[in-house]
Amino acid sequence: MASVIVRKTSYNYDQLKKVFFEIIETLAGDKIKPGSRVLIKPNMLSAAVPQDAVLTHPLIIKAAVEYVLQKGARPQVSDSPAIGSFEHILKMNGTKDALAGLDVTCIPFKNTVRVDIGKPYSRIDIAKDAMEADAIINLPKLKTHGQMLLTLAVKNMFGCIIGFQKARWHMRAGVDSMAFARLLTAIHQAVRPTVSILDGILALEGEGPGKGGKPRHIGVLMGSCDSLALDTVVCRMLGIDYQSVPVLKIAKEINLINSYEVEGDLPTVYDFKLPQTGGLIFGPRFLHNFLRRHTMPLPVCNNHLCKLCGQCWTICPAQAIQSLEAGVEFDYQKCIRCYCCIEICPHGALHSKETIGGKVMRRLIDKPN
Ligand code: SF4
Ligand code: SF4
Repeated sequence: MASVIVRKTSYNYDQLKKVFFEIIETLAGDKIKPGSRVLIKPNMLSAAVPQDAVLTHPLIIKAAVEYVLQKGARPQVSDSPAIGSFEHILKMNGTKDALAGLDVTCIPFKNTVRVDIGKPYSRIDIAKDAMEADAIINLPKLKTHGQMLLTLAVKNMFGCIIGFQKARWHMRAGVDSMAFARLLTAIHQAVRPTVSILDGILALEGEGPGKGGKPRHIGVLMGSCDSLALDTVVCRMLGIDYQSVPVLKIAKEINLINSYEVEGDLPTVYDFKLPQTGGLIFGPRFLHNFLRRHTMPLPVCNNHLCKLCGQCWTICPAQAIQSLEAGVEFDYQKCIRCYCCIEICPHGALHSKETIGGKVMRRLIDKPN
């Protein structure tokens, strides 16, 4: 049975370090061996400051590095940001300062190895450093996600797909939320982090996972060697049916969800704001395109906030964004509703807007019998 440890804490470093060390030592103390190479994989999506609650907090990364060093192992902090340089992100969110003076390697993923993740995707290029590490400490952030409802421990492993390969896979699998969830689950199973410790101290609710979301204090650190159990317990804490998270629904279908026990007091979080997701794709496949186009929320731009930085059109896997004199416009025929643009916008200028078709459909679904 999987164990999920829950502890209340804050970003006060003395308190945080004590709690972090206790969780990791209990769960994976025997798996971090002296001399081994330990990959620490935070969420380093794009440049943001800790108060934005978009990235794993730098003090959690610091605690992980200090723990690995104390075990006599060699820590490496890596990720593959969706856009922008890893170095800049480390600097901007304070990780560079937090890790100053510690013997740690901080580098973005660069090389890949080809891994067979099974049908229907078969072979995919995954970061070599992740596949060849002796142990992986996965440090996800608790955030909402426009397409996947929440981004937690399992989804954090998508960062092991490098740079623009992410966009390629979004285009191939992200057209259908369930297909994308299947891909995320398969990548997670291939990489298999040794332990996951989730930053739920300052979480992100609303239109996450980027700056469109709103920080929400929850004050918990949660850990498990079973990422799926961890993600399931997060849903329980937020009062969400775990099967409404596509990744967990797929995991349940393919019998990956194990029974678990919670160690510690799991708080109840009331009224956690979820994004408007495209959970309305159902029925025979030939209908999916129609439903996507007419019922899934549309990405829209607040032109007053847009600084024409170009990050959204650079990342868009469907090349569905064009710049205007002020702001951007979308080609909704091309758009696959992956919401990568919203996720990446550094100025919070993009958000999703429900369609009339989506509203009607939701009312029909929510209508009491
Ligand atoms: S919408 Fe955001 S990401 Fe796109 S150009 Fe404007 S500011 Fe940049
Ligand atoms: S416009 Fe935004 S939501 Fe649509 S495909 Fe491009 S990145 Fe994805």
